[in-house]
Amino acid sequence: MNRTLQDAPPIAAVDGTSLETLNAMAPEALFSWALRVYGERAGILTSFQDTGCVMIDMMSRAAPGVRVITIDPLRLPEETYRHMDAVEARYDITVERFQPNPADLARMVAQHGEFLFFDSKPKQEHCCGVRKVEPNLRALASLDVWFTGLRRDQSSARKATQRAQWVERGGRPILKVAPLVDWSATEIREYTSRHEVPVHPLYAQGYTSLGCVICTTPTLPHESARAGRWRWFNHLEGDAKECGIHIGGSGI
Ligand code: SF4
Repeated sequence: MNRTLQDAPPIAAVDGTSLETLNAMAPEALFSWALRVYGERAGILTSFQDTGCVMIDMMSRAAPGVRVITIDPLRLPEETYRHMDAVEARYDITVERFQPNPADLARMVAQHGEFLFFDSKPKQEHCCGVRKVEPNLRALASLDVWFTGLRRDQSSARKATQRAQWVERGGRPILKVAPLVDWSATEIREYTSRHEVPVHPLYAQGYTSLGCVICTTPTLPHESARAGRWRWFNHLEGDAKECGIHIGGSGI
């Protein structure tokens, strides 16, 4: 019988470091370890929300040279593009920007229009698939260690996130690491203030999660961080506030 990744996830990283050890490591130590062991096969994927910028700041102190990658769906607010430029200048880094495949994008818009995400959840997922998930898979194909800014307090769907876990993407295992998984929004704010980390300007306008224009809106104080995503799907349950990058193919 053929074994699948679900049957046999790796038991350790290539240097023998176990998941248990990685889950106990401090964020800075994780960046140093990844750069030493995996070099250019380790990278931070970020949409330049505050947790991502804290990771970049930590990396710049502990392990300068870790790649910084973003998925640019070509529908980000102008503020996000300007913020990216500011982060590049502050840390003297070049962010690798993965964008949608032009032919796939043109076909989708020709078939469904630019605003298909209003029509139905499947069409929104199709849009996210073309603009975000496919470029994300392309980015991940260049990585063995994927640093992400996921935190448990961002939504109910993220409560069980591990600091380090093997996930399957493109038919192979990738080590997905969320160094700040157990930090609170307050701790993130304190860090950005203490270290003068560039903060996305839209937070000052009530945004608690940052994504594409139209699909992302500000939130009220009693709402979860991702409640501002796709508000016209508020009646749906489960992963309705996820775009597909962090669901599916995980948890091997
Ligand atoms: S967030 Fe909206 S515009 Fe952006 S890729 Fe998803 S559906 Fe498309």
